[in-house]
Amino acid sequence: MGECIFCSIAARKAPAHIVWEDDVTIAFLDIFPLSRGHVLVVPKHHVDRLTDLPREHYPAMLGAVAEVCRRVERLSMDYNVGVNQGALAGQIVFHLHFHVIPRYPDQPGFPRKRDALDPADAQRLVEVLAHR
Ligand code: AMP
Ligand code: ZN
Repeated sequence: MGECIFCSIAARKAPAHIVWEDDVTIAFLDIFPLSRGHVLVVPKHHVDRLTDLPREHYPAMLGAVAEVCRRVERLSMDYNVGVNQGALAGQIVFHLHFHVIPRYPDQPGFPRKRDALDPADAQRLVEVLAHR
């Protein structure tokens, strides 16, 4: 899957603002965040769908999602966790990923138009989210 952007990030061949990593999973900031601190949690092994994920990766996958949630709670105790599965559900990157999207009182809905991740703010977010 040489063309898959999330495989390239997992292999450290494409840049990303990484906030968490273990042998099975990697988590990084979304480059078009729905809110400040929007993180994607991704298995390193390429699968399109949750139902294709090898069962032996379930504990690491859920553990990584929970770990990222624990860190996102440094930004907000309110957040959405979700998977878009299939084009009709809004999936545009066909490598499984869990969205963790912090919610803030001054931003009740999701923006229609998303701004690209600001590099300076991304650096600040990595400082907040990447430490244990
Ligand atoms: P989905 O609609 O669930 O497939 O979401 C894919 C997400 O990946 C979108 O929110 C994109 O902004 C995000 N995305 C695409 N390419 C990258 C990338 N290179 N680094 C970080 N996030 C990305
Ligand atoms: Zn992939």
